Amino acid sequence: MPDKHAVLSASSSHRWLECPPSALLCSKAGDTASEFAMQGTDAHSLCEHKLKTALGQKSKDPTENLQYFDEEMADCSDMYAQYVMEQLAAAKEKCKDPIVLIEQHLDFSKWVPEGFGTGDCVIVSDETLTVIDFKYGVGILVEAEKNPQMMCYALGALQLFDGIYDIDSVTMTIFQPRRDSVSTYTISKEELLKWADEVLSPTAQLAAKGEGEYKAGDHCQFCKVKATCRKRAEYNLELARYDFEMPSTLDDDEIEAILSKVDALVSWAGDIKEYALQQAVSGKEWKDWKIVEGRSNRKYVNETAVADTVKEAGYDPYEHKVLGVTAMTKLLGKTRFEELLSGFIEKPQGKPTLVPMSDKRPAMNTAANDFKEDK
Ligand code: SF4
Repeated sequence: MPDKHAVLSASSSHRWLECPPSALLCSKAGDTASEFAMQGTDAHSLCEHKLKTALGQKSKDPTENLQYFDEEMADCSDMYAQYVMEQLAAAKEKCKDPIVLIEQHLDFSKWVPEGFGTGDCVIVSDETLTVIDFKYGVGILVEAEKNPQMMCYALGALQLFDGIYDIDSVTMTIFQPRRDSVSTYTISKEELLKWADEVLSPTAQLAAKGEGEYKAGDHCQFCKVKATCRKRAEYNLELARYDFEMPSTLDDDEIEAILSKVDALVSWAGDIKEYALQQAVSGKEWKDWKIVEGRSNRKYVNETAVADTVKEAGYDPYEHKVLGVTAMTKLLGKTRFEELLSGFIEKPQGKPTLVPMSDKRPAMNTAANDFKEDK
């Protein structure tokens, strides 16, 4: 769950560990709850309910109050509860009295000023402490490996139980059903505490005071001052200052140098445009820029009246189309979708996409490569 009011929240720790002064800047910028965040909150309430029910605990079904409830959400929360129950069963094989904590307040203020968060699920047993985080998002795949949010939660959980249980290592899992992803990472207790003392704590002290070095990078996409940040602008404009050498066409190294910066550049440029537009819409007058009406298409003022009129005239006003895969999954839920339709689904080869070598996907075998091998 998002940790709403903490300046140095676990959920934003990836950003402030990279760029410590961003924490205070963001805390002053105010909050706007996105639709995705509200959807996530609904999904978390349902997960909590399903898990408590699976554990035989009393829980009130929140479904009727969930604005974004649909079959997909019902399915994802079922899968989550089932996954946690499996982990609990595995823990019981090693330890006779493991405990499960749901929506647990986790305090890691020993390392991060006022640092706390809410862990979706913590399983405490001898040897291993397990921290499970449910992510309902679909846009960005979140990995557990060295994930500072999870490591902060793990520290909070250690604070509660180290000493009571005999814990050697911590397993962190991000359960992201809409990406079919269960990402797990295990770290020894010593290594986690070493990171907390040597990296987390000193950086958090700087961040709390608004000190430290500004550093731009991928993490800027989650920063509230990303459009107006000078460091990010400098970082991106470096490309424009790239010292191209003669001759008049770029060589391979130069193309690769540009490729490595171009996504960040496009995303930064988009943020600047969006910021300037929003300012203008709210009344700011830019010296050399104004707002005009964009292109618009004709539309019906009353769809029912249009359908009735066309029917009366003897025509069929409707287009009959099978729902797309995403809409059908929403309608049926993931399990029912699989049951009914798995035999009718194919996954065509994706469009070639150029990514850095560090990307985990295997390289695609292109037609040109096949041709080379055939020769
Ligand atoms: S935009 Fe990037 S560089 Fe600027 S404050 Fe935010 S995280 Fe730091």
